[in-house]
Amino acid sequence: MKNKTIRFTLLIPLIVTFLLSGCTTLYPALPAAPVTPELVTPQPTVAPDLGTLGDALYPNLGNAGYDVQHYALDLSVDVTSNTITATTVISAVAMTALDSFHLDLSGLRVDNIDVGGQPADFTREDGELIITPAVALAEGETFSVTVAYGGQPEPRAMPMLGQIGWLQRGETIVVVSEPFGASTWFPSNDHPQDKATYDIRITVDEPFVAASNGLLIDVIEADGQRTYVWDVINPMATYLATVAIDEYIIEEEEGPNGLPIINFITPGTRDVALLALENTSEMIEFYTELIGPYPFESYGAIVLPLGFSLETQTRSLLSQGHLLMPGEEVVAHELVHQWFGNSVSLEQWQDIWLNEGFATYLSWLWAEHRYGPERLESIVTGSIQAPFNVNPPGTPSADNLFAQTVYVRGALTLHALRLRLGEETFFDLIRQYYATFRDDNVSTEEFIALVEEISGEELDAFFEKWLYTTGIPSLTEE
Ligand SMILES: [Zn+2]
Repeated sequence: MKNKTIRFTLLIPLIVTFLLSGCTTLYPALPAAPVTPELVTPQPTVAPDLGTLGDALYPNLGNAGYDVQHYALDLSVDVTSNTITATTVISAVAMTALDSFHLDLSGLRVDNIDVGGQPADFTREDGELIITPAVALAEGETFSVTVAYGGQPEPRAMPMLGQIGWLQRGETIVVVSEPFGASTWFPSNDHPQDKATYDIRITVDEPFVAASNGLLIDVIEADGQRTYVWDVINPMATYLATVAIDEYIIEEEEGPNGLPIINFITPGTRDVALLALENTSEMIEFYTELIGPYPFESYGAIVLPLGFSLETQTRSLLSQGHLLMPGEEVVAHELVHQWFGNSVSLEQWQDIWLNEGFATYLSWLWAEHRYGPERLESIVTGSIQAPFNVNPPGTPSADNLFAQTVYVRGALTLHALRLRLGEETFFDLIRQYYATFRDDNVSTEEFIALVEEISGEELDAFFEKWLYTTGIPSLTEE
């Protein structure tokens, strides 16, 4: 996600500094008392909390106990009244025996739920939809949940971004979910740890066009309505699913290796969009060579007359305003996220610098490739002087997830690593990082372990300084 505002809030990561610097014993050690086995009372078994995946920043996101395989979303959208009538069918595997389980759903009216074809009871509490099937699920059992629901989706408030999720602006509807907006339009296991495949059907009145993720496999016209049928064949995190409805012009082209590129452009943004998107194929080729094969079944952009850009999987949302800034940078940034962010997903939201630092740095590498090393040098020189970079990017709070330092000092961390490791090792690292975590999840710890393995160097002090310590480090200091 490309953020809109610059924040100068001083983020002092006291807790992390404390944790990383190791605990000091504050109390004199007492001699250990002998343990008498019969005096040890058994601890009661605590039932696991099924309503969380333990994300440090967003503990309400995601649910434990099952693994989603596939979402089938079917939405009929009345654009004028901004209401939906919808069914979501989730196919999942129970990871443990379950008497009940949770889905994330915010707002909307739930009409009916069944599990495996039988009506199920449900309750709702703080964005959690808690479902009790008629027959308990056994560990390892594959099951399906059908949720019939509807109403007027309500966006959720997100610091720095305003609103996220299902948004309506006049007769434009668009879903921009990072990091917790997916629950505004479909029940889900809303965390990048549980990726799944999708098919998405959206019915709208003519002349509206409904864009979404993956491949457009059919458009069914009947009674003044169109149903757009989309197929997502590679696993996708919930926050990367989108629907965008407007009177779009569809522009198709063939990318490298026959990759279908489908762009959705509103008539008013056509000139700006076509200019900014003219290098898309060349960029895909450049990044394929740099990182590895393009991860998905298709690509394209949805150009919006709104202030949001987001790397929604296979079809990036691009704000017309961002395309006017320097369009190439944002086009490259959201494209890089298809590899880093979408295919290589975060284990925890606090590691967001892995998404944004890579997307930002690799968009600078496009500038280096296209305009020469002086261009990269001038971007780096300008960036390192930015005052917000005094704040380290490694531990943003939930209110500062998209702070500018996460992007820019995240990118500078990678540039400093390139200077430290040398060209060959650094670019080998980029390729191996993608190959190792493709279609999977990664933490900062795992990234650092891979860097140390590939380089043969001990780099704790380097990453401590760049990611977790206040004050702008020197790019070349050992
Ligand atoms: Zn981004």
